[in-house]
Amino acid sequence: MIKHKTKSEKSLKNSLCIASLFTLYTITQAKELALSFDDGVNPQQNPKAVQINQQILDQLAEHQIKSIVFPSLVKIGDYQGKQLIANWGKAGHLIGNHSALHQNLNKSNITTQQYIQSIQDADLVLNTLPRYKRIYRYPFLKEGNTVEKRDAVYQWLKNNQYALGGVSIDASDWFYNRKYLQYTKQADTEKLQRLKQAYIWHLLNRAEYYDQLAVQTLQRSPKHVLLLHVNQINAAFLSDVVTAFKQQGWTSISTKQAFDEPIYTQQSRNIPAGESVIWSLAKTQGKELCYPAEDAPYELENLKQHQLD
Ligand SMILES: [Zn+2]
Repeated sequence: MIKHKTKSEKSLKNSLCIASLFTLYTITQAKELALSFDDGVNPQQNPKAVQINQQILDQLAEHQIKSIVFPSLVKIGDYQGKQLIANWGKAGHLIGNHSALHQNLNKSNITTQQYIQSIQDADLVLNTLPRYKRIYRYPFLKEGNTVEKRDAVYQWLKNNQYALGGVSIDASDWFYNRKYLQYTKQADTEKLQRLKQAYIWHLLNRAEYYDQLAVQTLQRSPKHVLLLHVNQINAAFLSDVVTAFKQQGWTSISTKQAFDEPIYTQQSRNIPAGESVIWSLAKTQGKELCYPAEDAPYELENLKQHQLD
């Protein structure tokens, strides 16, 4: 007998998805966390670019964290932006490749050829930088909307000695960054203070969500990689974020250590392919997932909880 989902079953599932976001978690074991930073900033477009970049590097140094940056040429601009990325390498962090044009491989108008060209173009510019490694992070974590595109890019990366630079914990720092810019413009220090708490809560919550999904999927807690961006909210709050994770029982590891995990080199079997490697594995296993885990409605609820709008 084919069992159809009733309306009440569906709404129960939805309410469980929301509920799981607001559960308080207890500390079980020391979970391991590495940080990764996407995109980079362009000093020709953002007057605060130099400061943002340096403040993030300073806070990583303060906590003795070795990380990785994945620059996209369209995000960093020309020479000056490249110099900021070089500073990551000089400080002992890895530099990966996030393509030249930051295209979404799941878009039907993006061809495999164009896409691979964009990876090659970025490689040509970035490969002179200190500690540059052929590690590729897909923009938007999108790994292809057809089997042909997905597998052609995997094959090209493999043939060109590229490792995949996946993430286990997807998060929405971009959303909180937007709010940060808004409250900064309004010079609202009280809101900025509450935003810091909301942002920290969001990241901890996403980390716990993906860790629980990993335990269900892999039967263990893996070395996690968190997706962040080189942006103003991280320049402002990164040290507080790291401290909060430590207080919740997380141990800091380098991204290089985390990428030893086989989950990060695994190719997706899904169509569309991509997202968090944990989410992707869970989907392959046929698990029912709340998706998107990263979306504005969740964040609006979190803002409300912190008396923000
Ligand atoms: Zn990106």
